[in-house]
Amino acid sequence: MTSSNALQNLIDGRLVPPRNGRYLDVVEPATGQVFARCPAADSTDVEAAVAAARAAFPGWAATPADVRARLLERLADRVEAELDALAELESRDSGKPVALARRVDIPRAVANLRFFAHAITQWPSESHPMEERALNYTLRQPLGVVGCISPWNLPLYLFTWKIAPALAAGNTVVAKPSEVTPCTAARLGELAVEAGLPPGVLNIVHGTGPDCGQAIVEHPSIKAISFTGSTRTGAAIAASAAPRFKKLSLELGGKNPAIVFDDFDFEAASLDTIVRSGFANQGEICLCGSRLLVQRSIYERFRARYLERVRALRVGDPRDADSDLGALVSEPHYRKILACIERARAEGGTILTGGGPATVAGRCADGWFVEPTVVEGLSNDSATNQEEIFGPVVCLIPFDDEADAIALANGTGYGLAASLWTRDLKRAHRVAARLEFGLVWVNCWLLRDLRTPFGGVKNSGVGREGGVEALRFFTEPKNVCLALD
Ligand code: NAD
Repeated sequence: MTSSNALQNLIDGRLVPPRNGRYLDVVEPATGQVFARCPAADSTDVEAAVAAARAAFPGWAATPADVRARLLERLADRVEAELDALAELESRDSGKPVALARRVDIPRAVANLRFFAHAITQWPSESHPMEERALNYTLRQPLGVVGCISPWNLPLYLFTWKIAPALAAGNTVVAKPSEVTPCTAARLGELAVEAGLPPGVLNIVHGTGPDCGQAIVEHPSIKAISFTGSTRTGAAIAASAAPRFKKLSLELGGKNPAIVFDDFDFEAASLDTIVRSGFANQGEICLCGSRLLVQRSIYERFRARYLERVRALRVGDPRDADSDLGALVSEPHYRKILACIERARAEGGTILTGGGPATVAGRCADGWFVEPTVVEGLSNDSATNQEEIFGPVVCLIPFDDEADAIALANGTGYGLAASLWTRDLKRAHRVAARLEFGLVWVNCWLLRDLRTPFGGVKNSGVGREGGVEALRFFTEPKNVCLALD
């Protein structure tokens, strides 16, 4: 950032202001104060970024994979060296507790860069001998210029989750972080220059969805779009990409269930994990469980223990080490969450705890904090239980038996992630197989191995990221058949 805290676009290896000279305010959610300005780039800047990426592509694609990997590792080292500063910046920009950013977001960004640097050098080639007649082998070639568009909830974590495999596989990139939380991606751009990434290989343009994101999606020279964000935006992107035959990876919203069976282990750490699965990052994680399905025979006992834990959560200044929840990301999002709580009341729900703004004194008096809120008494068909809220609001829903649990869990338009809690191994496997979700956790939540496929079904998205899935997405297979006789 410059002394005026004005972020810049990164185009062709240079930090440049937006050509239209326009900027957006970047606000600290914990205080409501503007602390930086973000370029309001438009199609002119995207055009320049694409031109740079196109020019850089032949050289980058021809660079040996191990050399590309070394550059990504160098970038990872630089991010790691700034872990504390980046965690503070991420927390300031998004409202999340700094401790969370230090423990999860920034280390995960480092891990993403290192993982894909390593993965590309380990990716086996494919060959298919046809006895003595012919030899087939499949080349995996980079696509060219690709677009990466990311959301505000895990800013650097999800930004690197996209650009790392794209770059490792030999593509050049035009990337747009969320205009709500652009700061750490902007710093990553500076670090990429320092790490020696050739000009034009990674271009970062900042701006709004309609002005800047849309221009990326529509650009005829961009071959693929990797998008993470809301289902509504994903649908708009799919509609404009379809006639251009672009490859798409869409990671969208969720309405995730946590299913607690009657043999739940109250003595283990499970209850704390279930609480975390609803309220981590203020509930602003696409994988958070917002529908808590509990078998009727243990419902009362579970509810009492659960509420005790939720009431003990501390909402506070994101800078304080003991804050469990920080501020919601923006004023519009804060107002949306309060409106969702009002809707839950209007639908006949009972608020068991929380239910309104949280007051945090001192420098955070004007921040956007909401109490962790638990609702009961609403059917699975209510709008509260059907629509993604993306905040600290969890609904308790009782169920009778395994079939009932599966029907309720599957009974939304979304299919991103489910967790189920039982000591019965056979039941765990049986239920997991019948859940219509891209990810199922058994007796855990958010345990992630970067080699495994990540993504959702139904309205939660199309395609998978992670491990070899991401490398497949960012490459085009070409079969070569060589006659041997
Ligand atoms: P969003 O859809 O509003 O914005 C995401 C990104 O898309 C931003 O960079 C935005 O500027 C850009 N954008 C907006 N309109 C665009 C358009 N017409 N064309 C191109 N780009 C456009 O989402 P958000 O509010 O930033 O993020 C929250 C959403 O993201 C939630 O729905 C959440 O579930 C989802 N999410 C999903 C995953 C996942 O892996 N499935 C992970 C994190 C977040």
